[in-house]
Amino acid sequence: MTGSIVLFGPPGAGKGTQAGRIVELTGKPQVSTGDMLRAAVKLGSPMGMAAKEFMDAGLLVPDEVIIGLIQERLQEDDAKQGVLFDGFPRTIPQAESLDKIATVSSVISIEVPDDAIVERIVGRRMDSETGDIYHVKFNPAPAEISDRLIQRPDDTEETVRSRLEAYHAQTAPLADWYSERGLLIKIDGNASINKVGDSVEAAVSRIL
Ligand code: ADP
Ligand code: ADP
Repeated sequence: MTGSIVLFGPPGAGKGTQAGRIVELTGKPQVSTGDMLRAAVKLGSPMGMAAKEFMDAGLLVPDEVIIGLIQERLQEDDAKQGVLFDGFPRTIPQAESLDKIATVSSVISIEVPDDAIVERIVGRRMDSETGDIYHVKFNPAPAEISDRLIQRPDDTEETVRSRLEAYHAQTAPLADWYSERGLLIKIDGNASINKVGDSVEAAVSRIL
């Protein structure tokens, strides 16, 4: 299949957790704007420093910054047959800009209610070497890597409230936007990681 896939859902829905399966099934590279922004923060670039203030406050980074990052990423050779977008687009203007530079074939929406989100985000841990995602309760990391685990600075109970607010106000309307275009596939994300994985695989095999 040519064209790109969008992995859509609230913060903590399980997009990063499920992205690997879609990459395996489709061969499309994962393009996560969150990971790209965290890399810029780590480098200490001016863009990274500016983005960090928004991220730590649980606010969306301005559209022009995100669109610039995506335009650059899509120039790379591995993006020619489409990519798997994870965490992008997050606003209608981002989706409109994306429409001008790439073809979106499907949008897989992982649906999770707000009350489950807080526990997922506060318990999220990341392997600082590999970027692998774990959860203190739902997906514990192996003991031998426990000293490498980090918690994202924006994964606090306070920040998650702002992130959910931003999601409902600015990102959730995109579901209707893509649904009107016949591209939205909804998945119940309020189940175990494996069950959600099975639904994701079923959705992907239908669109391949
Ligand atoms: P999560 O995995 O919790 O959904 P991400 O790693 O995707 O979080 O994003 C972390 C933060 O980076 C967001 O809260 C936001 O500040 C910023 N960000 C990531 N992607 C975008 C985007 N497409 N538009 C605006 N801000 C973004
Ligand atoms: P997103 O990329 O959408 O922000 P993640 O994939 O990082 O979400 O998942 C957020 C947290 O929830 C992680 O700690 C992850 O291990 C956990 N998680 C992911 N999917 C599930 C699930 N189906 N049930 C319980 N916890 C999950």
